[in-house]
Amino acid sequence: MSKVYLVGAGPGAPDLLTLRAARLLAEADVVFFDALVHPDTVALATNARKIAVGKRAGEVSTDQRFINRALVEAARHHKIVVRLKGGDPMLFGRAQEEIAALQASGISFEVVPGVTAALAASASLGISLTRRGVARNVAFATPSIGDGEAESDWLDTVFDADTAVLYMAKSGQEKIALQLIARGKSPTTPVAIVENASLLDEQRFFTTLGGLAQSALTLSGPALLMIGEVYAVTNEVDVMVAEQQEHPKVHQQSRC
Ligand code: SAH
Repeated sequence: MSKVYLVGAGPGAPDLLTLRAARLLAEADVVFFDALVHPDTVALATNARKIAVGKRAGEVSTDQRFINRALVEAARHHKIVVRLKGGDPMLFGRAQEEIAALQASGISFEVVPGVTAALAASASLGISLTRRGVARNVAFATPSIGDGEAESDWLDTVFDADTAVLYMAKSGQEKIALQLIARGKSPTTPVAIVENASLLDEQRFFTTLGGLAQSALTLSGPALLMIGEVYAVTNEVDVMVAEQQEHPKVHQQSRC
């Protein structure tokens, strides 16, 4: 009986992978992997045929329907099929469409969770998403809307949240900040941006909504916009900051 495993590869660092994921990769006959998955993680699938089905914003990506069909087809010929997805499969990963395709074809599946980017970024910052008396709720949201999709209420969600983490938001930083300010969020609201969380070239920046509205950061890797009072840089002993030259209003946190 064949099975398709939707496996979380974690945020980037290959050792932020569950033991279950590592075992399944070692056993897999075929692996379909996303662009953000680290090559060392893919390499754990020593016996598998490895198929890149990468999706990067702005680049030509594999059509989701093709991936759905490919998973169904692979399950007809192989016992262990792994669909390796960045972070956690159940967050902004289109897992439901893949699950629906598998269910429609009567193929059994199992989901293996992974460390989502927001948790890796929080770990790197050393700043908790929640804090007693300051932040009692967290919203994971995206302002990104696919072609033909209905409008999203991300703005209200972020406005209401004590802490908000925005995925797939780096291309519209200024607009996002301006929209939130127009919605009533204070321009002094602290913002942290983490690029390439958990990887060697990780970068961490601190600014405010007002600062971001004036100068967006140039980011080449995947990044998160994290918004809320928990990101206030109040104690420069705890959170070492240094001016980032190209972005005078932005503080970059040095690695310590
Ligand atoms: N399922 C994934 C998210 C996929 S959406 C997860 O749970 O993490 C892709 C978005 O995730 C990127 O646009 C970026 O916003 C974020 N992301 C993924 N990896 C990241 C990383 N290492 N550092 C910062 N953001 C990351």
